[in-house]
Amino acid sequence: MTFNDLGLSAEVLKAVTALGFEKPSEIQEKSIPELLTTERDYVGLAQTGTGKTAAFGLPMIDQIDTSFKAIQGLVLCPTRELCIQIAREMTSYAKYSDGVKVVAVYGGASIQDQIRAIKGGANIIVGTPGRTIDLIGRKALKFDSVSKVVLDEADEMLNMGFKEDISEILESTPAFKRTWLFSATMPREVERISSNYMEDPIKVTVGTKNSSAANIDHKFCLVQGRDKYFALKRFADHYPGMFGIVFCRTRRDTQEVAAKLMNDGYNADALHGDLSQGQRDTVMKKFRNKTITMLVATDVAARGIDVDDVSHVFHYDLPDEIESYTHRSGRTGRAGKSGISIALIAPQKSGKIKLIEKKIGKTLELVKAPSGQDICGMQLMKMIKNVEDVEVNQKGIAPFVAQIHEALEEFSKEEIIERFVSVEFNSFLKEYAKAGDINVDPSRIRKGADERFNDRGRGGRDRGRGGDRDRGERRSSRGGETNTKRVFINVGKMDGFENKGQLLGFLCNQSGVDGGSLGKIDLFDSFAFVGVDDGVGEKMIEAMNGQNIENRDIRVEFSQDKPQGERGGGRGGNRGGGGHRGGGGNFRSGGDRRSGGGDRRRDFGSSENRGGGERNFKQRRRRS
Ligand code: AMP
Repeated sequence: MTFNDLGLSAEVLKAVTALGFEKPSEIQEKSIPELLTTERDYVGLAQTGTGKTAAFGLPMIDQIDTSFKAIQGLVLCPTRELCIQIAREMTSYAKYSDGVKVVAVYGGASIQDQIRAIKGGANIIVGTPGRTIDLIGRKALKFDSVSKVVLDEADEMLNMGFKEDISEILESTPAFKRTWLFSATMPREVERISSNYMEDPIKVTVGTKNSSAANIDHKFCLVQGRDKYFALKRFADHYPGMFGIVFCRTRRDTQEVAAKLMNDGYNADALHGDLSQGQRDTVMKKFRNKTITMLVATDVAARGIDVDDVSHVFHYDLPDEIESYTHRSGRTGRAGKSGISIALIAPQKSGKIKLIEKKIGKTLELVKAPSGQDICGMQLMKMIKNVEDVEVNQKGIAPFVAQIHEALEEFSKEEIIERFVSVEFNSFLKEYAKAGDINVDPSRIRKGADERFNDRGRGGRDRGRGGDRDRGERRSSRGGETNTKRVFINVGKMDGFENKGQLLGFLCNQSGVDGGSLGKIDLFDSFAFVGVDDGVGEKMIEAMNGQNIENRDIRVEFSQDKPQGERGGGRGGNRGGGGHRGGGGNFRSGGDRRSGGGDRRRDFGSSENRGGGERNFKQRRRRS
C-alpha cells in the first residue's frame, strides 16, 4: 500500500512526499482511511515510534475547514517535549495546506506568547493538559468548535496524573466531536477513559497489546551492582557507533553515571528533572545533533524523547514501574529501525526478568559484558575499516610524501602496519589488559518472580493521581511511606485550583516531577502544602521558582514544620522575597540552602582497570 491509496488530499500527499515518507507504517495504513471517513470514535494501540503522529495528524489536517476561523482540532499529550515535537511534525504535514495553523501550548514557557499565537488564528491546538486548562481558565482557549480531539500517549498522561484535567478538557468540547485515543498500553484507567468518554470506538491494535516493538532485541547482562558502570563502558566500547540512552532511577544516579562517562572521555550528559527547561533543551539539542552520544536520563525526563536513530537503550537500574520498561525500550527501534535494549541486572534483582518477559511477551536474552579481548578486537577492526574507507587527499599530502617515505624507509610493510595500529591502539590495549570477567554466573539468576514491580495497570491501590487525593493521604511511590518533607507553594484555590487533583496536575506539568512522588496535599485559598519524596522538593523549588501565574511570581519553599536538619537543599540558594498572599503559612521566606547536588561517592571496588591515560584518544575516537 502507498500513501496515495489512503484517501489523503493532494496538498497533504505533497507534504508527505516532501518529508521523504515512502510507505505508510502499519498504524498509518490502518488509521488514516478510517479517520478520514468514520464518524465513530477511535482507539489506536501502538508503541511510540511507529508513526502515530502522522496516523492522526494527516487526517486531522486534511479535515480542517480553512474558511472557518476557529479551533477545530485538539491534540493532548503528556509532556512539553512531545507537545513541541507533535506541533512541529503537524506543521510540516500542513506545509501545503494553506490556512492550517498549528499552535503548541505547554508549561514552562511564556503564556502570553502562546495566547498571542492562539489569537493569530490557530485551528489546531497541541497542548499539555495543565497549560491547556490554564488557558481555558483564562478564556484564551475555547473548544466549542472542536470536531476532533486526540488523546496521545493516553497511558502516559494518566500515569502522570492528568486524569481529572483530561476529563475537564473533554467536558469543554462539544458533544458532536470525535475522540481519537492513542496509547502504547491499555491499562484499566485508559479503558475507563475510553468507556466514559467515547462511544463505541473502533479499536485498532498494531503489534500485541503491551508488547514492545518487534524490531527491538531485549537482552540482559548479569553483573554485580558495583560492576554495572564497567559493564556499561564495555558495551559502549564494544559498539563503536553506539548512540544510546542510559536509564537510571534517580537524578543522582544520572548525574553520577554521566559524570563518570564524561570523565572517562565519552560524549555523555545527564537529563533529569532538576535541570531548568533551558538546560534540558540544550542537552536534547546536543543529543539530537549527536554531539552527545550517550544520554543518561531518568524516566520522567526522558518521556517523549523522539530521536530516531537511538541504537541502544540501557537500563542501568530496572524501573520501579514495569510499564516504564516498555516506554524506555521504545526509545530505540523507532521509525522501522532496529534497536537493542540491555538491562544491567544484579543477581538479587534477577527475579524481575520473568515479570518483564511476561509483560512484553518476549524472552530477554542473557548477554555477557564483552571481554577486554572482544572490545579490542572490535575497536581494531573499526580502525582498519576506517583505514580502508578513508578518502586520500592526494593533493594535500603530496608535499609531504617524499619526507614520509624517507622517514619510514627502514620499516617493512608489516612493521609499518603494526606501528600505525599501535599509535592509536596502545592505550586501549593497556586499559583492557587487566580487565577480568565481570559477568556473574547465570546459575544465580532467580527463577521465581519474587521481585515486585509496582504495576499501575493491575488493580490494587490506584497509584494515579486521582486515586488517593480525596482522602488527602497520598503516599509516595517509593516504599509506601507517608512523606516526611513538605513544600509550601503560594498558589491555591484563588488561582482557580478547585481541587487537589487540579493542583497536582499543575505541579507535575510545571515542574516535571512525577505524580507518584508527591504526597498529601493541603489546598487553601491562597496557598497549599504538598508532601514530597526525598529529592523531589528540591526539584520543584528549582523548576517552579521564577515561573509565574497570572503575572504573580510562583514561590515554592520547604515548609518549616519539619526540623531544620530534615530540610533538603534547594539548589537555587537564597531566593528571598516577600510573604505569600493572605493566610498564615509557615514557610520560610528565603534563607540559605545547602547545595542539593551532593557528591555521593561509591567505592566500586571492581577489578576493572581504570587507566587514565586514554582520555584524549577516546574523545577523538567517539567523536569520529
Ligand atoms: P512517531 O511514532 O509519530 O513519533 O514517528 C516516529 C518517526 O517516524 C518520526 O520521526 C516520523 O517523522 C517518522 N515517520 C512517521 N511515519 C513515517 C513513514 N511512513 N515513513 C518514514 N518515517 C516515518
